[in-house]
Amino acid sequence: MPEIPDLEAVRHYLMPRFEALTVTEVETPLPWLVRTGADDLATLVGHRFGEIHRLGKFLIWFVDDGRLLVVNPMLTGRFHWVEQGTRKPGMLGVVLRFDDGHEVRYSDQRRMGRWYLVSGDGLDQVPQMPTLGPDAMAITEDDFLARLKPRRGQIKATLTNQEFMAGVGNAYSDEILWAAGLHPHRRRATMDEADQRRLYTSMRATLEESITIVDATVQGEGLGKKEEWRQHLKVHRRAGQDCPKCGSEIRGQVRSGSETNYCLTCQPLFE
Ligand SMILES: [Zn+2]
Repeated sequence: MPEIPDLEAVRHYLMPRFEALTVTEVETPLPWLVRTGADDLATLVGHRFGEIHRLGKFLIWFVDDGRLLVVNPMLTGRFHWVEQGTRKPGMLGVVLRFDDGHEVRYSDQRRMGRWYLVSGDGLDQVPQMPTLGPDAMAITEDDFLARLKPRRGQIKATLTNQEFMAGVGNAYSDEILWAAGLHPHRRRATMDEADQRRLYTSMRATLEESITIVDATVQGEGLGKKEEWRQHLKVHRRAGQDCPKCGSEIRGQVRSGSETNYCLTCQPLFE
């Protein structure tokens, strides 16, 4: 699932490329992905995009007439930037063609992603948006601590709860908790203030470092080969390998299809 560094790389890659371009054609081979109506997406023809913002795991594209194009790529949504006529990817869902012959293509192997075209004040029409917590890259340390306070449960579940805070998912929560030396099943109630401040610092450092790495990778290889870039991760999906900090074996647990990885030496579970 694309997370903050992946989506930051997508927006950093696309923004300067379509800056001066006008949409000339819209195709929706998988029309049901566009929840506000695939036909309506054709009204983008003749328009330009301004900035793309990211809020949690949503990308928000600013249209020059004030509307917002909101994309939630869910598990496998992938963006491509290619010239018209290049070979099409499998499960191609949406194509936005520009007047210089380039296309933004969106493919989605599991077809779970969602697109919405809404008015400038219509973000609340997008499911999940009204209850979304502050973005992980925007939340302050004090706000983070204040929001943690009423949460008693396991810290990984809290970190990945989009109503608590938006943007952190399964992969980066493992990385952040490893960096902070906190077991994923550690209950928030057993964490003192120093633990909580270390968690915040580790979160920001992990995400910032990963954004730099993924940005550089995507600028180098182009957009479209992957939807997530994970080669730099230290523990996630590395069960059985050595912990880069202490050399102990990284553990793995699979629960309802998603894997949690940690090092029991660096992340002891005591309650
Ligand atoms: Zn370790």
